[in-house]
Amino acid sequence: MENRNFYNEILTEHNISPLHKHEIENPDIVLEGVNPSCGDDIFLKLKVKDGVIEDGGFVGDGCAISQASADIMLDQIIGMKAEDALKMGEIFMKMIKGEATEEEIESLDEASALRDIAHMPARVKCAVLAWHTLKEALGVDY
Ligand code: ZN
Repeated sequence: MENRNFYNEILTEHNISPLHKHEIENPDIVLEGVNPSCGDDIFLKLKVKDGVIEDGGFVGDGCAISQASADIMLDQIIGMKAEDALKMGEIFMKMIKGEATEEEIESLDEASALRDIAHMPARVKCAVLAWHTLKEALGVDY
C-alpha cells in the first residue's frame, strides 16, 4: 500500500508541476499524438542531434495519466540516445501489458509509477500515448 501511495504521489507531482510541458525553441521534430477514446491530444517536440535527444517538451491537453506520463517520459529521455529512449519505450509498453520483469520495471525509474495501468485497460492508451508518439517521432530517418 505504501508503494501505491508513492506511485500516486509521483503522478500527482507531474500533473501539478510538469517540468516539460512547454514549447521548445526550434524543435527538429514535432509530432501530434491523439487518443480519441479519452480526448488526450499532445504535441511532442524534440531537439535531436547526432542521435541524442538534446531537449524536448510537450504541449496539449488530456487526462491526468496522459499528461503525467508525457512529463515523466521527457524527464527520462532528455539527454538520452534516441535508440536507448526507444528501448525504454519498449520496456514501458511491456510493463503496461503486464509482461515486464521486476528488473525491467525498475529500469524505468519514475515511469514505473504507471505500472498499475496494466490492470486498468481503459487507461492504457492514456499511459502509452507519449511513448507511442515518441516511437513514431524517432522511427523516421533524418
Ligand atoms: Zn486519457
